[in-house]
Amino acid sequence: MNPTTTRATDTTSSSSKPPILIRIKRQDSPDQASRWEEFAVPYRANMNIISCLQWIAAHPTTADGKATSAPVWDSGCLEEVCGACTMVINGKVRQSCSALVDKLEQPITLEPMTKFPLVRDLWVDRNRLFNDLKKVKAWVPIDGTYDLGAGPPISQELQQERYPLSRCISCGCCLEACPQYTPTNNFVGAAVISQVRLFNDHPTGAALKNERLEAIMGEGGITECGKAGNCVEVCPKQIPLLESIAAVQRQTTVYAVKKFFSK
Ligand code: SF4
Repeated sequence: MNPTTTRATDTTSSSSKPPILIRIKRQDSPDQASRWEEFAVPYRANMNIISCLQWIAAHPTTADGKATSAPVWDSGCLEEVCGACTMVINGKVRQSCSALVDKLEQPITLEPMTKFPLVRDLWVDRNRLFNDLKKVKAWVPIDGTYDLGAGPPISQELQQERYPLSRCISCGCCLEACPQYTPTNNFVGAAVISQVRLFNDHPTGAALKNERLEAIMGEGGITECGKAGNCVEVCPKQIPLLESIAAVQRQTTVYAVKKFFSK
C-alpha cells in the first residue's frame, strides 16, 4: 500500500469526526469554590488526554465561547512512569498520558485526585506519599562515600518476587481508591506498605528492617488497612498489593512476638 495515500485517508477521516467534548473541574486555589468548564477539542486520531489538555491550554475558550484561563495540571514523563499526571478520568483514577480519547466515553470528565491537597485545577500535591516513604525508610542503605564492592547475591526466585514491587511509580491511584486513606487521617496506604516489603526483602535493605517494621506498626500503619482491595483494582502496574500487605503483616507479627520475648 502506498503510505502517502494511507496518510491522506487518515487525515480526512480524523477531521470529519466531531470535536472531543471535555469537562474539566476547575478550582483556582484550595480555598476557592470549584466549577465545571466544557471544551470542544478538534479531533485527531490517537489523541490522549494530555494532548487534549495541551490544545485547551493553547486555546483557553470554553465550548460556549467564553474566554477562560488555561487549565493547570502536572505531568512529567508522559509514558506512565512518573505518576505525575494522575487524575480522575470519567470517574476512574488513572494516568492522563495513557488515557486514549478513542477508548473513553464522551463527554470526558477530568477531576483532580481527592485524597491529596489540591494546588489548582487538576494539580495536587503528592508530598504526603513521599514523606510516608521517608518515614518507613523506603531505600537500601549504602554509605556511598567509598566502594563497597559487589552486593550480596539475590536468588532468581527472590528477584522475581521483588521485581513487580519495584514497578511502583508513586502515582497515588491506590490511595485515591482506598476507603481507609483520607485527607484527614495519617494512614500510609498500600503503596508504602508494599515498599516496606520490597526493601525488607532486599539482603542489604534488611539492615533497616526493624526500623521499617516499627514505623509501619505505629499510628497510621498497617493495622489501619481494611483490606477493601480497591488498591489492586486501580494500580496501573498490577502490583500484588494485597500480597504485600499480608507479607508485611506476617513480618510485623513475627517482629512483635520476638520483641516481646526478648524483653
Ligand atoms: Fe501507583 Fe500502584 Fe504504586 Fe499505588 S502501588 S502508587 S497504584 S503504582
